[in-house]
Amino acid sequence: MGIAAVKKILIFTVPLLVLAGAFFFIPQVEQLSPAHKELLLIAPYLASVTGMFLAVHFHRGRPFTALLLSSLFYYVYKTFLQYETSGYTFQSVYFSFALLLPFNFAMLAMMRERGILSIAGRLRFLALVIEAFLAWFACRHYAESLLPPLTRKIFAAGLFDRLLLPQPVLFFALLMLLIISALTVRRQAPIESGFMGAMTALLIAFNSLGAQYNVAIFCTAAALTITLSILQDSYNMAFRDDLTGIPSRRALNESLHGLGRRYVIAMLDVDHFKKFNDTYGHDVGDQVLKMVAKKMFDVRGGGKAYRYGGEEFTILFSGKRLADALPHLEEVRRVIEEYRLSIRSNDRPKDEKQGESKRGSKAGTTEVSVTVSIGVAESGDEQRTAAEVIKAADKALYRAKNRGRNQVCC
Ligand code: GH3
Ligand code: MG
Ligand code: MG
Repeated sequence: MGIAAVKKILIFTVPLLVLAGAFFFIPQVEQLSPAHKELLLIAPYLASVTGMFLAVHFHRGRPFTALLLSSLFYYVYKTFLQYETSGYTFQSVYFSFALLLPFNFAMLAMMRERGILSIAGRLRFLALVIEAFLAWFACRHYAESLLPPLTRKIFAAGLFDRLLLPQPVLFFALLMLLIISALTVRRQAPIESGFMGAMTALLIAFNSLGAQYNVAIFCTAAALTITLSILQDSYNMAFRDDLTGIPSRRALNESLHGLGRRYVIAMLDVDHFKKFNDTYGHDVGDQVLKMVAKKMFDVRGGGKAYRYGGEEFTILFSGKRLADALPHLEEVRRVIEEYRLSIRSNDRPKDEKQGESKRGSKAGTTEVSVTVSIGVAESGDEQRTAAEVIKAADKALYRAKNRGRNQVCC
């Protein structure tokens, strides 16, 4: 439980490192040469453009839009907010960004990835243009009635007085940040984590308007965090299986290269899965694969799980012997056998074939379960190649199937 919680927080690592770097950099600015200072002032654009190139390359519309918005903020800061510090126009522009940027980041975090210039992508840009128009309209005609509630003091605490953002605006932005953070933890997704880091950096920039280098540093940090998240996401795409979220076959091949002399490989295959799909439909089949993957991912004894392909998985025990691995594999088999997955009854096609799966009785829901067969082989002393060990594990799997399935064979 403790370790699982720690693992969930690891998704924040990159944003935290970038933010720490930004704070570390602030005192160094004094020592920069004038040329480097100039460079720092355009660094937010450079970081954003780099990220946008990557986003285009990987067809990532959400981070592309986020980078565009943060560059827009920096541009407006450089051309306007930096020079004005009060008045209706200043407040209108400043608060519009401080409210709409977090709001749009939260919306982007909630959305699914649909590309940049796809129809959905274009609609997103259209929505942004409409939003900008509405903001302009509201500022132009209703500024006098909108500004007082936005600048109201809710709490008298001195901490808030030191911040530039008035409390209502700040709390709204923090609420958006909370939503993004919750999504990040739940989905364990780098892009969301990038939004979270970028939003935090931008909030700091919003509160540093008087210090142009600080604004530049935090806007750069924001763009850098999103850019890194695109890289992390594309790495995951290559090495992590899309459906189940566990490492893919490509990741397995990489791991096989780095193996020592002693290791154990287990091949796992879901029993009668074709029939299961026919009975409950492909979507329920996918849910079951996710469940099986999750149980395998949690295997103890130093095993690492991969999706080999289809409904076949591999567990690799590096540095272990057969006898070490067997009890843990047996445990995985048992946990999967005992697991009951609740599905809504209308998820199931009309065809009432029962297949191998058991059905429960809770009103409106059906409980399904599957079993798995596992074949195991170890590297042994005769120095077999990994491909040979996989083949031996496959043969053992075949034996497990022939002996009646739902068992571990070696
Ligand atoms: P056995 O016990 O002998 O393994 O029987 P089986 O039906 O599981 O064997 P087989 O390998 O012939 O069938 C595998 C089935 O797995 C075929 C396909 O419908 C299903 N399958 C493969 N990949 C996926 C997937 O990503 N999602 C879903 N829902 N089904 C998949
Ligand atoms: Mg199979
Ligand atoms: Mg199968």
